[in-house]
Amino acid sequence: MTNEEIKKILLEGNYITPEDITRAEKNMNKGGSLVDYLIDEGIITVSIFGQATAEFFQVPYTNLGSYPLSKNDIIKIPEDIAKKFKVVVVTDAPEEVVVATDNPKEVELIKALELIFKKKKITITYALPESITNLFVAYQKPLETRFSKIIEGNTRVAPEIIDEIIGDAINLNASDIHIEPLTDEVVIRFRIDGVMQEAGRIKKQFYENILNRIKVQGKLRIDEHYGAQDGSIRYQQKDKKYIDMRISIIPTIDGEKIVIRLLGEYVRGLETGDLGLSKDDENIINEAARKPFGMILVTGPTGAGKSTTLYALVRSLNSPRVNITTIEDPVEYRITGVNQVQVNPLTNLTFAKGLRSIVRQDPDIVLVGEIRDTETAEIAVNAALTGHLLLSTFHANDAATAIPRLLNMGIEPFLLASTLELIVAQRLVRRICMHCRYSVTIPKTQLIKKFKQAQNYFEEENVTLYEGKGCEECNNTGYIGRTGIFEFIKITPEIQNLILTNPASGQVWTEARKSGTQNLFEDGIDKVKNGITTIDELLRVAEPSRDYLSK
Ligand SMILES: [Zn+2]
Repeated sequence: MTNEEIKKILLEGNYITPEDITRAEKNMNKGGSLVDYLIDEGIITVSIFGQATAEFFQVPYTNLGSYPLSKNDIIKIPEDIAKKFKVVVVTDAPEEVVVATDNPKEVELIKALELIFKKKKITITYALPESITNLFVAYQKPLETRFSKIIEGNTRVAPEIIDEIIGDAINLNASDIHIEPLTDEVVIRFRIDGVMQEAGRIKKQFYENILNRIKVQGKLRIDEHYGAQDGSIRYQQKDKKYIDMRISIIPTIDGEKIVIRLLGEYVRGLETGDLGLSKDDENIINEAARKPFGMILVTGPTGAGKSTTLYALVRSLNSPRVNITTIEDPVEYRITGVNQVQVNPLTNLTFAKGLRSIVRQDPDIVLVGEIRDTETAEIAVNAALTGHLLLSTFHANDAATAIPRLLNMGIEPFLLASTLELIVAQRLVRRICMHCRYSVTIPKTQLIKKFKQAQNYFEEENVTLYEGKGCEECNNTGYIGRTGIFEFIKITPEIQNLILTNPASGQVWTEARKSGTQNLFEDGIDKVKNGITTIDELLRVAEPSRDYLSK
């Protein structure tokens, strides 16, 4: 649809005013999309636009995003017809079939549907084109069927198999691909939302070519079979977009195992508003990050999303007016406008050495991938003291423990007290799938059996919680994607004084509690009550607190 047509539809339906159009035409980029502008400015939403267009065509509107569609129904329309006319089956009952298309008046489409559904009543509804094409994943055959086809065809077996594996991993939003040789087979597994799932298997005879191709693309040694190797690939997808991947190969008794981490655009685009922070926490982190100097530390075990949080912070702070330099091991995501340095043991470029040189170049903001040793910690503290905002991760289970651990590394208490601004601890929990979420009401007594602290967290006798039923959107797991749960210790003047006394973590925590700090579990409980995650998921990643914060 052209901008003129869209203008007509929205004006006729009274979804916007002529003044909105005047303003849009004045401020919009030349040749830009009117719909994108109106949505970005918050004048209309995606579903209002869908609704308006449906009214224009005089058919009902289907919001496919909120509709649990069945793969079996979708494939009732042959793939070529579905793609030609952009059409999907919404529901298929004995008497009537409902379809959604972005072209409801197309005569050829109606003829084709009559041939497929014979005597049934056909109801045509409107849906937005992208929401339709997203569903065409339903036509994908299982990975193994596609493997057999590729092997039959017998040319370029390895590259085609690798393309299929990576394509599927991207479609399913996997974070990692594990390609693991067994005695006579190779199993391919994807890590999706933190959980491993088998994706397919292939005969071992094809493995060597696959392994070699990945090694060549990752600039690794083909003749090395007994050592661990790490590399990276900038992979071009079928739609020509690039995705960065980190490759790691380790020898096992059945051969070399490949692990590919997909470094998605999606993480690169994240800002602090997307992390799942509460409004209070978001204000605290933004305030700390706006100071011209000081130190913000993110703690948590591996896989807790620490670097995602730091990258989001860097993105929020990134502007042409500030210089941001990072030292990382490895550089996970490239960010435009940021100077990124990779730790390299071969050239003796360690965190400590790199950080020392970076500080000499006088950047405004420095991101240190991880503070692992005393030397790095000392340089970091000095940098934070001398007019740099320093961001880093630190291995500690909770925020309060970070302080005694840094002091034990030999950092002077008065230096730490005057530089530290904020300590964040975090974990990741899986989000409930919005396509199949439903609520359940259970007696509080039952929750208390699950964990006795439930007593404190839920007031009502019957508690309403949420779960995912499992649907095609979420691969029947009931979860899609992840979000963070956080614990924030803001360094107040009281905590600064406490640091001077070499405190134990318990003392730090007691002091932080006085200013209303929530722990990981409590932040998680808010997300459970709001239907973002489940109580079981929260109990999997965080422990109920010993001390209860009454609000
Ligand atoms: Zn679902």
